[in-house]
Amino acid sequence: MKEDYYEILEVHKSASASEIKKAYRKKAIQYHPDKNPGDTKAEELFKKSAEAYEVLSDPDKRAKYDQYGHAAFDGNGGFGGGGMNMDDIFSQFGDIFGSAFGGGFGGFSGGGFGGQRRVKGSNLRIHVKLTLEEIAKGVEKKVKVRRKIQAPGVSYKTCPTCHGSGQVTRVTNTILGRMQTSAPCNACGGAGQIIDKKPADADAQGLKVTEETVSIKIPAGVADGMQLKVTGKGNEAPGNGIPGDLLVVIGEVEHETLKREGDNLHYDLYVSIPEAVLGTSKEIDAVTGKVRIKLEPGIQSGKILRLRSKGIPSINGYGSGDLLVHVNVWTPKTLNKDQKEFFEQMLEDEHFAPKPEKSDKSFFEKVKDMFS
Ligand SMILES: [Zn+2]
Repeated sequence: MKEDYYEILEVHKSASASEIKKAYRKKAIQYHPDKNPGDTKAEELFKKSAEAYEVLSDPDKRAKYDQYGHAAFDGNGGFGGGGMNMDDIFSQFGDIFGSAFGGGFGGFSGGGFGGQRRVKGSNLRIHVKLTLEEIAKGVEKKVKVRRKIQAPGVSYKTCPTCHGSGQVTRVTNTILGRMQTSAPCNACGGAGQIIDKKPADADAQGLKVTEETVSIKIPAGVADGMQLKVTGKGNEAPGNGIPGDLLVVIGEVEHETLKREGDNLHYDLYVSIPEAVLGTSKEIDAVTGKVRIKLEPGIQSGKILRLRSKGIPSINGYGSGDLLVHVNVWTPKTLNKDQKEFFEQMLEDEHFAPKPEKSDKSFFEKVKDMFS
């Protein structure tokens, strides 16, 4: 039985984002490896709180967790029971420690129980535009990325100043006595390593820019503005540092005939007066392929037909939205003499006078139905 994430962080289910962050920071500092060297229980609690925070700090994941509990994440990547490793925790949440562990300088993060610090390369961000069809099915995109890598031929060695720890200790005499403070090593910038040999085309960190094709698997159901992360495809770091990530920002190309609203799609269907009177069958280009719909004789303009699950699949993998077909009866804007006479005859016939029934729902009821 997995423990409840809220209980791990000791917060209420209705806790705000900042309360959750505060609670995690408290736990992370309490169980931080630097404070509990060799304590496996502390390490476990440190990892557990990070896992809880990873889920509860993300509004989407938190909503999923609130609804489905731990089942929401079983077997679908994420932590799947294995928990987070220390590198993940420091690379994702390193900022949380702030000044408590001298973090927040450069891109450095603590590296677990050895005391060794590891540099993290910077993240890169790219924008990818997708059509609704691509979003509906999910797609693999190949993009060209200009990223820094360790130049071929570069080598690094342990920093002689800090002997690889990335930290230097200073002892100062104060009125309260001798105080020991530690600060990042200036010689290596806190990385614990310096350049041994580097080729001429490398920068001061031994890196050079290359263009690389990266394949990005985009799941079905993404939306405009969403950000995906390709771990390790950002800029590399010098020495034994870990590469940054590639952040992929999703953009949506406007569709010619379909309008998206969440996972639902809307389509404006136009039929002629005789088609509305006699009934007809129409083919619609849905994102999932062509769909044929039948319109009963006497269909009213403004009627909305709901085609279940013909919308966009949910990003969480739970079902799909619907396709809402809005029926519009097309009224001719010009008529010749005969056509005019034809309609004038209809005008005299009482049968054509509007007689709306309860089943011809009012506009407001229809709107309610649409969003339910
Ligand atoms: Zn150093």
